[in-house]
Amino acid sequence: MVTGIIILLSSICTYFISRQALLPLRRLSQEVNKIEIQNLSDALEVPATNDEISRLTISFNKMLARLDEAFTAQKQFSANAAHELRTPLAVIQTNLEVFARRETPALKDYQEIFAMLQEQTGRLSHLAEILLDMTGVQTVERSERISLAALTDEVFCDLASVAEQKEVELIQQEGDCIITGSYLLLYRAVYNLVENAIKYNHSGGKVTVNIHISEEITDTSTSVNYVFLEVSDTGIGIPPEYQEKIFTPFFRVDKSRSRAMGGAGLGLALVSEIVRQHNGQVKVLESSKKGSMIAIMLPV
Ligand code: ADP
Repeated sequence: MVTGIIILLSSICTYFISRQALLPLRRLSQEVNKIEIQNLSDALEVPATNDEISRLTISFNKMLARLDEAFTAQKQFSANAAHELRTPLAVIQTNLEVFARRETPALKDYQEIFAMLQEQTGRLSHLAEILLDMTGVQTVERSERISLAALTDEVFCDLASVAEQKEVELIQQEGDCIITGSYLLLYRAVYNLVENAIKYNHSGGKVTVNIHISEEITDTSTSVNYVFLEVSDTGIGIPPEYQEKIFTPFFRVDKSRSRAMGGAGLGLALVSEIVRQHNGQVKVLESSKKGSMIAIMLPV
């Protein structure tokens, strides 16, 4: 009987002790259950116990902060995309309304309305295309062996007529590197950089691509070899305060100028995403009123 009573008492004690010990975990679980998309930015209160629960809460708060940042960026992206889509649609609508009010439109009016429709639908389809490209980047296979020199050569061939029109000379310096990745995506990244280098250049200017392997870049314990694909131009330059911002979606230094050239401000954001998917970086290395040098750096 005594043994029975001892077992019963110790079971009751164990129950209460474990209940007490699990109380902070239960509180944490209740707090976590209250989290919604609307209150992602509200961090959970960290208990001052400095034990596993407080460490778990700190890690959870860090995860919440990352999620909040990602959701905010997504929301901003959708709002900007909607705004970009609305602008050409509003132009089409206004022009069609004005046209509809004309009782006897002349041939010139028809020509003008067709030209406007062509321009705005072109802008809309370019935007839709680039938005689709951006959503597909993560799912593309990245296991091909690619010669960066051959890729640059193809980009130059495809942009030769654009460069000729703008009277910009395209120069490819000697140097190559074979890397592993997606040809399609890297082609797109280099294409966008070279296209910008032509677009934001002066007539009679130059665009040079230089491929070289860098010295080892050491980040704390590991050292990695990087290949630099540098696109230099003799164009208008990028003010220092915008050199990081140009890689964020829909950012343009001169909105009206870029829009007039058909830009949506997504070209470099796509480059940045492609390079990130290849564990690399893209950066403005130099820029002044004499031109810019933007480099893609990829691990070899
Ligand atoms: P866009 O479609 O407007 O060209 P991007 O994302 O390709 O969009 O570029 C963002 C902005 O960065 C451009 O609007 C332009 O102001 C600036 N930019 C990009 N490349 C260059 C360059 N080579 N020289 C000067 N400015 C540039």
